[in-house]
Amino acid sequence: MKLSKKQSYSYIFEKRERKVPSPETLMCIPRELVEEFQAFVFDRKGKKVEVAAIDPENELLKNFVRNRFGGDVKWFSAKKEDISFILKHYSRDFKEDIAKLISMGVGINGNIVELAGLIIAYAVAEKASDVHLEPLRNESVIRFRVDGVLHKILTLPKEMHNAVVARLKLLANLKMDDYRHPQDGRIELERFADISLRISTMPTLHGEKVALRVLDDSNKDLSIRHLGFSEQHENIILRNIEKPFGLIVSSGPTGSGKTTTLYGLLHLLKKDKINISTLEDPVEYAVDGINQIQINPRTNLTFASGLRALLRQDPDVMMVGEIRDSETAIMATEAALTGHLVLTTLHTNDAVSVITRFLEMKAEEFAVASTLNLIIAQRLVRKVCDVCKKEVEIDDAIIKKIKERKDIVNALTLMGKEVNKLKGEKFLVGAGCDACLQTGYRGRIGIFEALEINKPIYDLIIGHAPTERIKEEARKNGFYEMIIDGLEKVFSGITTFEEVLRATRNN
Ligand SMILES: [Zn+2]
Repeated sequence: MKLSKKQSYSYIFEKRERKVPSPETLMCIPRELVEEFQAFVFDRKGKKVEVAAIDPENELLKNFVRNRFGGDVKWFSAKKEDISFILKHYSRDFKEDIAKLISMGVGINGNIVELAGLIIAYAVAEKASDVHLEPLRNESVIRFRVDGVLHKILTLPKEMHNAVVARLKLLANLKMDDYRHPQDGRIELERFADISLRISTMPTLHGEKVALRVLDDSNKDLSIRHLGFSEQHENIILRNIEKPFGLIVSSGPTGSGKTTTLYGLLHLLKKDKINISTLEDPVEYAVDGINQIQINPRTNLTFASGLRALLRQDPDVMMVGEIRDSETAIMATEAALTGHLVLTTLHTNDAVSVITRFLEMKAEEFAVASTLNLIIAQRLVRKVCDVCKKEVEIDDAIIKKIKERKDIVNALTLMGKEVNKLKGEKFLVGAGCDACLQTGYRGRIGIFEALEINKPIYDLIIGHAPTERIKEEARKNGFYEMIIDGLEKVFSGITTFEEVLRATRNN
């Protein structure tokens, strides 16, 4: 039987509750072509693409899709209102739409619901990690954090700020009539399948300030190469993660990506049939197959008490979100001594200082020396925007800044480079475009150092050797500092001198 044209394409967008595809999926077809072809991609898994169109038989459209995605395309029919709904979710329209809503004022029914939804959708499209709604005297400022940097996105009239905050509090089931105390909660978004928000409110002089953390489970590529580890570092990690017991420490200041690194390591471990438990504050990403426990000082569930309770549960691998005090430090080394693999984080500037920190926290030399397997220290640097990158000669101002930094000059020397010979070499930078909010950067990557504890270093720890002496010994084994790792990434066009200078300035 020959099917008529109309019957041969099913309409399923509504059945999928009109969930908005992720920005990456949407961008498979640029906005202009969505308008022209009246079609959009609403699902993409690897090479499989699902396209909905008003007229799936349009030859031009079919050609375009075939050229762009190859053969594995499933076609569906779409309605006119689906196209306009989808077009709303292309990022460059958000500002205009929001401005339109603002000009309509708070009085209009449903206006605020839509405004709050648009702000969230805008943040998701820009891949913001955080959204800040900050009340000032007469207005309120909305800022997005993208790749670690805050950008002012728009201002709201004061009455709209209060209404949007009320809407967000309602979504998170917070106490609506309490403006005087900080509150926190979670918002599950109906519109986005893999995205949820953590909300926290704070009373300030001019009203309630709201911070939203965007939690995106869809694009979490936890493979460690993706985090920016070099081949050498990857090998060191793989070698140490296989040891049945001991300590693996990931170290760096707040916001250096050290927890993400631990998640990456857990992801590697998960393959084995072992019992993994974590103590986290907060639990940021749900990981399948792992017992994640949220620290809660109000119920006296601290890192130390949690660790003690966990040990009775006979886990093979434990992740302790952070070691902040002597009690936890001692307990972690003891757990490692008694046959557990313990992963944790510490705040130190570099890998070697982790040893000193443990000793300062009264962990015993013997326990520290015999349990520490691997220390990773890291920072995050922004990546040069792929869309607008171009080659330029290095700036005199940057050469001047490099010369002011002894550690950078030394690192260059170790790499066989000379500052004065950098002039004339070409480096990649971002010119600034819509994709990178004119910053020239898009996405972030880690710069690392990885210190393996071998027998000579074990002896040095027992003998309380100074950190420089330990570093010297480690270098014999191929150890290199994160500045060198960062500079390698500058020379290979992944990031810039400015980023490495900034990220490592406190060393
Ligand atoms: Zn760009």
